[in-house]
Amino acid sequence: MTSKHIETTLIGAGRSKRYTQGAVNPITQRASSLVFGTVAAKKHATANRAHGELFYGRRGTLTHFALQDAMVELEGGSGCVLYPCGAAAVSNAILSFVGAGDHLLMTGSAYEPTQDFCTHILGRMKVATTYFDPLIGVGITELIQPNTRVVFLESPGSITMEVQDIPAMVQAIRAVAPEVVIMIDNTWAAGVLFKALDFDIDISIQSGTKYIIGHADYMLGTAVANARCWNPLREYSYLMGQMVDADTAYMASRGLRTLWVRLKQHGQSSIEVANWLTGRPEVAVINHPALPSCKGHEFYRRDFSGCNGLFSFVLKDRLNERQLAAYLDNFSHFSMAYSWGGYESLILTNQPEELAAVRPAGGVDFSGTLVRVHIGLENVDDLIADLAAGFERIAKAC
Ligand SMILES: *Cc1c(COP(=O)(O)O)cnc(C)c1O
Repeated sequence: MTSKHIETTLIGAGRSKRYTQGAVNPITQRASSLVFGTVAAKKHATANRAHGELFYGRRGTLTHFALQDAMVELEGGSGCVLYPCGAAAVSNAILSFVGAGDHLLMTGSAYEPTQDFCTHILGRMKVATTYFDPLIGVGITELIQPNTRVVFLESPGSITMEVQDIPAMVQAIRAVAPEVVIMIDNTWAAGVLFKALDFDIDISIQSGTKYIIGHADYMLGTAVANARCWNPLREYSYLMGQMVDADTAYMASRGLRTLWVRLKQHGQSSIEVANWLTGRPEVAVINHPALPSCKGHEFYRRDFSGCNGLFSFVLKDRLNERQLAAYLDNFSHFSMAYSWGGYESLILTNQPEELAAVRPAGGVDFSGTLVRVHIGLENVDDLIADLAAGFERIAKAC
């Protein structure tokens, strides 16, 4: 096989003739029932229902298989489970490997609903969670207990963006507890910027809602697993009824074609904005993985092939309600919304106490308001002018 660059892989991924049937793109095969022509065909489909034969809608159609194959081409591993959203991918991936009496290690920088799932739902199931500082490094092994089944990473962390020393952590965990399943929420990397399975991580999870879909219009979760974890992950998720409709799967495959060019532009513009922010007197610290001020920047430089449009910065001051409204209610190009990864710019703020409440560990050592931005595909000068006007409004609203 000739070696391929990532952008070339993205163009061809999942576009076998079986799936495209003469078109450029995979067909959209909408189906619950899949019809067997003969008793022998039904028998064959049943025996191979987990291995790419058409069986029943919940096991997927050609449209789903095309996306699943594409994700495996992109991320490596043995297979990809599709979920209706990223939160479903996170919860079902974890649930596939824990039961009552087990223990889970969760990064304190994880996406807030991931932490809430552990605390509220796993807690009810008698699965204990220990949150760890994302910068703990090889110290992670001291937290491993005889009943630890899963270690869950997320890097960069949600909102505070700490980059973890993944190779050191994975190696240390493997040395003392080879059976532990190591998962990562790899949404920030979009399966492209950080190759989780190449770092010996078992399962790479993404909210496909973000950059894979890329247009803020569909929701999707993906989990790509290595050979060791593929069967249990797939069968558990199947029994939990996890699937996505064919139209969403189609749109995800379509999103892959432009993923690289979008990421490149998001990343280039976000670095320009972050560099501009370093010169602003209002800003205390910038949490952009590509900038030296970000915690774990050295790991980013070593392990990632690039960045995207998402980062945060902390203001010197804690904005009051009037300042927050003046700042956030009046941007021209930045909309206020949860989520990110679409083509458009977004902005959100967190007061320090809001973060401390959901983060038992990691990164919360500031007193000013944290601003998280997603730098979209607008012209970067327009975005910088918009942010500059925002700082002026804060000053006026004092
Ligand atoms: C958005 C997000 C999720 C959840 O994804 P949904 O598709 O919204 O359910 C999980 N992890 C991270 C890091 C996210 O940003």
